[in-house]
Amino acid sequence: MKVAQISKAGGDWELVERDIPQPAAGQVRVKVEACGICHSDALVKEGLWPTLQYPRIPGHEVAGLIDAVGDNVTAWRKGQRVGVGWHGGHCFVCEQCRRGDFAMCVNRKVTGIDFDGGYAEYMIAPVTALALIPDDVPAEHAGPFMCAGVTVYNALRNSGARAGDVVAVHGIGGLGHLGVQYARQMGFHTVAVNRGNDKEPLARELGAHHYIDATAEDVVSELQKLGGARVILATAPNAQAISALVDGLAPSGKLLVPAAPAEPLTISMFSLINRRTSVAGWYSGTARDSQDTMEFSALTGVQPMIEKYPLDRVAEAYEQMHSGRVRFRVVLTF
Ligand SMILES: [Zn+2]
Ligand SMILES: [Zn+2]
Repeated sequence: MKVAQISKAGGDWELVERDIPQPAAGQVRVKVEACGICHSDALVKEGLWPTLQYPRIPGHEVAGLIDAVGDNVTAWRKGQRVGVGWHGGHCFVCEQCRRGDFAMCVNRKVTGIDFDGGYAEYMIAPVTALALIPDDVPAEHAGPFMCAGVTVYNALRNSGARAGDVVAVHGIGGLGHLGVQYARQMGFHTVAVNRGNDKEPLARELGAHHYIDATAEDVVSELQKLGGARVILATAPNAQAISALVDGLAPSGKLLVPAAPAEPLTISMFSLINRRTSVAGWYSGTARDSQDTMEFSALTGVQPMIEKYPLDRVAEAYEQMHSGRVRFRVVLTF
């Protein structure tokens, strides 16, 4: 099979042939049809994950067909359409798993980091990492739902915001363009925040009731004119910009940060105390959360906007993603 791998930290993309792997007990083999490129793939490319072993095939926005099943696989069969996301399985025996909180498993694996991912014609996945793809979701859309999609969908649906509440999505990019659609479809009073006004027509088309141009308007006062945001989903990885958002929250509001900026946030506790607000991270979710994401997307018409590349052009595709030129997600298709 043809794969794209990285064999050392900071190394270049290598297109190589490997033997098609066999699934062990509790695993399936997926014939990959599409794999989204995520900013987190830089962890493999640049060697930023401490326990990473090379060579490694990245890719955790995988969509394909089950092509073979290992022993002890009872609930999945050959021919099913499945997605594999960041959550690469859990152990069932740690304290968090015993409480049913599989996303917080202390032994959880990450697809494309702890084991080879979807920049390949075939990959092996544990059944705990599988999400069933609805019939009307094409593979090239299912891929991005497995990381970008589930991250924002799951963050918003667990945020505590209720229908009619003001929810702002900061940053209209790979995560944000999906976040705006989910916020609208979940019934929130949806505000898109971005630098410049070139994305305003699109943000409104995706469902934003309001658009705030962060270069021309004061984001905090614009949000406060709406009563403050119950939730701000910060998807643009800019520590300074994210830190400045807390004063745009309503009392008891929450600033949710699912994508990490490199720099630490700088936030005054007075600001949080006075309005009893909070800042929280968000971890994407389990495979079932990803399946919920796809089912909700199929039900409501939420779609990622993508650019497709063949595996042979992986270097170019990765560069397109990391340059920020892409609108809004790059997907390798097979
Ligand atoms: Zn990702
Ligand atoms: Zn566990």
